[in-house]
Order: sequence, then structure tokens, then C-alpha cells
Amino acid sequence: MPVTISLQLSPKQAADPKTYIPIAARLARVSDTQVALARVVKRSVDARKTPKVNLTVELYIDNEPQPAPLHFDYPDVGAKTPVVIVGSGPAGLFAALRLIELGYKPIVLERGKEVAKRGKDIARINRNQGVDPDSNYAFGEGGAGTFSDGKLFTRSKKRGDYNRALQTLVWHGASPEILYEAHPHIGTDRLPRIMTAIRETILRSGGSVVFGARVTDIELRDGHAVGVRCGDELVEGAAVVLAAGHSARDIYEMLHRRGVELEAKPFAVGVRIEHPQALIDSIQYHTPEGRGEYLPAASYQLVSQEGGRGVYSFCMCPGGFIVPAMTSGDESVVNGMSPSLRNSPYANSGIVTEVRLADFDHLRADHGPLAGLEFQRRLEYLAHEQARLLRSARNDDGSSASLRGENRRSNPENTYGVQAPAQRVADFVSARPSHALPRSSYVPGLTPSRLNEWLPEFISRALRAGISTFGRRMRGFVTNEAVVVGVESRTSTPVRIPRDPDTLTHPAVANLYPAGEGAGYAGGIISAALDGERIANAIAATHP
Ligand SMILES: Cc1cc2nc3c(=O)[nH]c(=O)nc-3n(C[C@H](O)[C@H](O)[C@H](O)COP(=O)(O)OP(=O)(O)OC[C@H]3O[C@@H](n4cnc5c(N)ncnc54)[C@H](O)[C@@H]3O)c2cc1C
Repeated sequence: MPVTISLQLSPKQAADPKTYIPIAARLARVSDTQVALARVVKRSVDARKTPKVNLTVELYIDNEPQPAPLHFDYPDVGAKTPVVIVGSGPAGLFAALRLIELGYKPIVLERGKEVAKRGKDIARINRNQGVDPDSNYAFGEGGAGTFSDGKLFTRSKKRGDYNRALQTLVWHGASPEILYEAHPHIGTDRLPRIMTAIRETILRSGGSVVFGARVTDIELRDGHAVGVRCGDELVEGAAVVLAAGHSARDIYEMLHRRGVELEAKPFAVGVRIEHPQALIDSIQYHTPEGRGEYLPAASYQLVSQEGGRGVYSFCMCPGGFIVPAMTSGDESVVNGMSPSLRNSPYANSGIVTEVRLADFDHLRADHGPLAGLEFQRRLEYLAHEQARLLRSARNDDGSSASLRGENRRSNPENTYGVQAPAQRVADFVSARPSHALPRSSYVPGLTPSRLNEWLPEFISRALRAGISTFGRRMRGFVTNEAVVVGVESRTSTPVRIPRDPDTLTHPAVANLYPAGEGAGYAGGIISAALDGERIANAIAATHP
């Protein structure tokens, strides 16, 4: 058995094995020459006072057998039972990998492009040259997780084998550090390579991954899903895994049209907030002089209750960028990502509040279970219109008319791009206009806008109160050096596709397996991946 040693070190000591191995050896009462392998199994930063690094190390002394190298076995499934998977996000890809391990042939249908080509479409969005509705930050190889922060933390570790999911990513090229970091993260510069490696595993094993294959319909026979249609083409399989993500509005609409039961669910919306990273470092590490060479860019996690409504930070990206995450040119949707080194001068995070069923009840009569989706769509359209109108006319008279559905028109040919509406944080909290904005990481550009006025009243009130509360906990958080940008509206799905808790199929459609975030069973890369694996296991249990 290896000897496990827990150390509390300065950031500099923790960065250098030549320093910490002798310390660990001393505590284990062996000489450092006896240490054949020192394996870090846990690392976290404790910044409550002077920042320290907690390191747990396993020491393999002398001839102690060392852990076997990671290995995954993906057999040839080219001639095995086919299973159709809609979407190549984490849920779809991990379902595919697990199906291969279990002896099934996955056929992954993806509306978007492979990562390299998708990267070009994303560059076009950032240059305000239009949004391809099939290839953007949400759609394309690897799903919403590819051009993201790649944080791999999940609260739903119970739902599957969390460590195995991380090991699968390491097998496909992620750094082994993700196996022991308290808050593992990959970074947007490395994720595309990993997604490509997963695709190569699927293809090498005889599965298929088809790009530009937008699923438009589902093929039902006698209450069974037997395949899907991409336009005129029918793709059949023993089961259909629906892992299309929460931005696939056309999939929800298609299911609703086909009479497949869906449920409205509460979700969360808000804004993305951006501070200078140096400011967050100085607040979190209590060091006005900066974080120095050895500490990572600081992060935060904030929660409060404001007038009975939860307000919380979401998907914090230290050293990151705010990105345009819309799927259509007439929406303003923002999200965040960061590179592996987390070295941009900005720190961003979603600050969101609950949207309850009662908040969109007025849309139920016309939109049924898709009422929340309609609420979300109108909010995104409103945000886009605010940026467009204010940019062209500097008109500060924003109203909620578009949220009620008035003045709504599609503008797919728009030429004003995806500039986003923004307000300085102290101005937002105090309900004052911002006439100019600080520099930001949001490449397409920001337009000064009174978010406090045009956001629906219950959202604006909760967010302003929440940010104020956060400012009391983190001195300096409420500052005009920071901005709020609209809108962070795709934190979770407003629609659930129900499924039987035992078989994991849709209760009324045999062989249809709703999976991942879009179906309402995950919220993040790892939880979606674990859900995909669960679905694969459920398919194997019923299709021997
Ligand atoms: C910018 C950004 C940053 C993020 N950062 C993080 C993070 O750091 N950590 C984290 O845990 N989560 C993060 N997320 C969220 C995370 O990416 C999602 O939770 C996760 O990807 C959900 O996985 P999924 O497989 O369920 O769906 P998705 O990843 O959304 O994948 C669905 C796939 O289905 C495809 N599809 C949709 N409709 C069709 C159709 N009709 N036919 C064929 N294919 C279709 C889409 O193109 C897409 O590839 C981020 C998201 C974004 C947008």
C-alpha cells in the first residue's frame, strides 16, 4: 500500500516536487531516495487567510507495486446492433463510448460541423459576421462543452462514476492533473483536441459520427422510436438517444408537434458579470499586490436569497472571456470560457436568479409546455434589440414590450452583429445609466444599456439585490470597473423530456432515451457525460 501524506504548503513549495517530495518523505519517515513514485491525489487552495495549498500525496516506497497505467478497451462494433444518438455533446459522446464498451454500434448524428470548421464559424460570430444556426458556441462537435471553460466539477457525482469519466478524458488527451485538482478544468484551447480524439475512438471502433446531420423528425411505429429523419433520410436503430442539448429548440418543437409529452420546468436567467481578474485576486487572496507567480487566478462562488428568490453565481471563469453563445443572429446570449492557463486579465461569472413556473404562466395558454422556452426566447430577443436600438439611436427608453411579444420580428439578415447590452455594475445596482463602459473581454463589443430598466422587474430586482449582498461579502465586488452583460439565459433547460426512472425511456415512447442537459437530467459537462453513460447502460439492460 502506498503511504498517503497530507501537506499544507506555500504556493511556491506546492509547485515544485523537488521541494514537497522530501517534506512528504520526512513525514513518512523514509529517505527521499526510497520514494519510487510520489503521486499527487488531491490539490486545493485554502485562501481563508494567507493562501496555502493543501496537497495530498501518495508515496510508493521502494518496490511497492505502482498503479497500473490507465487503459480503456474499445472493441470493434462495426457489425453490432446500431443505436442512433442525436447530438455529439458530452451526453451523446459518452453514451457512444459506453455503448462501444458494451458491444453496440453508435451512430452519432450532429447538426453542426467538426471542431476545426466550427472554430471558423465561431471566429465569424466574434467578428460580427453572422451566426450560423447549425454551427456556433452551442452546436457542433463536442456540443456546448467544446468552446467552453471545461470546468469538470459536478455536484452529481452520485449519478455515475465521476473518476472514470475524468479518466476517459485523460485517455483522450486531457492533462492527468484533472484527476486530483479539487476543481478540475481543461480550458478551451485543449478541449477541441479531446473531442476530436473521442470521435476518432468511435470511428476506429466501427461506430459513425455524421456531421451536418440535423435531425428534423423522429420515426415512430406502434409507440416505439425506430429511428430519426434528417430531412428525407431515415436513420434506423434499436434505440434512439436524444442528447440534443438545451439550445435545440427545434427538437422540443418537433416533439411537441408529434404529441410526445414534455414538461415545463423552472430554470434560471440573469447576466454575466465581469471584473478585472486582479481585483478578484486581491479580494480573494487578501493581497493588494496581486496573486504572484504560483497561485491560480482566483474564483468565487456566491449564493443569496433575495425576497424569497435565490440569486447565485454560475459557471465562474477566472482569467476568461465572455462569449456570444446565441444560436441565432437575433438573440443576445452570453456565457463564459477560459483557456487552460486562465490568463486573460478578466474574471467573469453568470449571476442568475430563479424563473419559476408562475413567472411564465401567462404564456401557457399559447405555448403549453414550451412556455418557459418562449419566455427565454423573448428575453434573448429583447436583449438583442436593446443593444441594437441603443447602438443605432442611443435611445435610453428601453421597455419590456418585446418580452410581452410585441414588436417581435425575425431579423436573420441582421447586419449589426452580436454586440451585447451592458451596464457598469455599481450603476446597475443603483439604477443609474452608464454612459461609457470599461474595457471588456467580449470581442463583438458592448453597448451601454439600462439593464436595470428593461430586464423583467422580478429579475432586475433580485439581481440588483443579490449583487449588492455579494458586494458586502466581497469588498470591491460592486464597482464601476466591472460590467454586467445581457443575458445569461441558457444556464439550464426550461423544458424536461420525461423519462421512466427505471428504464430511462420516455414513458410513452418505447426505445426513446432522453439524455443530458436538454432533456433536463444534467447541468454541465460531467453530469451530461455521466447521464450519457447511464443511458448506454440502460439500453444494454433492455436490448441484449
Ligand atoms: C460557452 C459555454 C461554456 C460552458 N462552460 C462549462 C464549464 O466550464 N463546465 C461545465 O460543466 N459546463 C459548461 N458549459 C455547459 C456545458 O457545455 C453543457 O452543460 C453540456 O455541454 C451539456 O451536454 P449535452 O451533451 O447534454 O448537450 P450539448 O453539449 O448542448 O450537446 C448537444 C449537441 O446536440 C446537437 N444537436 C442539437 N440539435 C440537433 C439536431 N436537431 N440534430 C442533430 N444534432 C443536434 C448540438 O449541435 C450539440 O452538439 C458551458 C456551456 C457554454 C455554452
